[in-house]
Amino acid sequence: MFIPTTFCDANYEYDDADYVIFGAPFDNTSSFRAGSRWAPDEMRKVSANFEPYNPKYDLDMTYMPICDAGNVLVSADIDETLEWIYEDVQRIVADGKFPIMMGGEHSLSYAPIKACYDACDDKDDFAVLVLDAHFDLREDFRGQKNNHACVSHHILNITKKYVTIGIRSGAKEEWDYARETGVKYYTADDVYEMGISKVIQEALKYLDSKHVYLSLDMDAVDPAYCAGLGTPEPFGMTDRDVREVLRQAAPYTIGFDVVEIAPEYDNSISAVLAAKLMREFIFAHYASKQ
Ligand code: MN
Ligand code: MN
Repeated sequence: MFIPTTFCDANYEYDDADYVIFGAPFDNTSSFRAGSRWAPDEMRKVSANFEPYNPKYDLDMTYMPICDAGNVLVSADIDETLEWIYEDVQRIVADGKFPIMMGGEHSLSYAPIKACYDACDDKDDFAVLVLDAHFDLREDFRGQKNNHACVSHHILNITKKYVTIGIRSGAKEEWDYARETGVKYYTADDVYEMGISKVIQEALKYLDSKHVYLSLDMDAVDPAYCAGLGTPEPFGMTDRDVREVLRQAAPYTIGFDVVEIAPEYDNSISAVLAAKLMREFIFAHYASKQ
């Protein structure tokens, strides 16, 4: 008997699945240390660690309609890669399925977000929730429009219904831009001082949407929990706080990604956390639809 290497408990074929997981192994614009191209396969590998049963939701993932479609084809060029991922996600969404991307770097999120927006039947309701240590608000960086340090700038050109949580790093120009244009953000210190429940309550009220795309840049998490990152930034969110955001936001979401894990820089514990958070997200979303 041969078992293909897929994300564990993603047991369905594409046609029968409601959730389509795929990997996007691309990290060519990473500004500090690359390596997130290895994250999708590492997340698949470590996902074998987990039991399929989730006691909080009383659900067994073995029987949930999830497919791992494999890794998307990528180019050496970010713009071409974004076009290809856009087309792949366009198909997933057109088939009525929920796209879940394992990056790869954060610049890739633009493609599924744009595909979900273009397919959204209520564009005024479309919103994006980002978890990130970084603003990613530069218009371009190192001569690249679609550098991973710019993704939120481009997301804001799609929708102004946008909140980012976990912020603690940015150029002065990004902090000024955020303050002057009224970008809704919560720093990691806000989370620490307010408590995550209050932050989530305010953020979801602000978004006021049933079409939320949720993008998890794993460097939102403190490197004490998650050291295998391209751009680790101390004084971050706890693993539990991030899980709580995923659980509470999941019912309102229409797409999800987890990006920026660089597994070569740790003992795989960051990929373990990313895989677990992805599973928690799927459980929470699935439970809300039952
Ligand atoms: Mn980012
Ligand atoms: Mn980041």
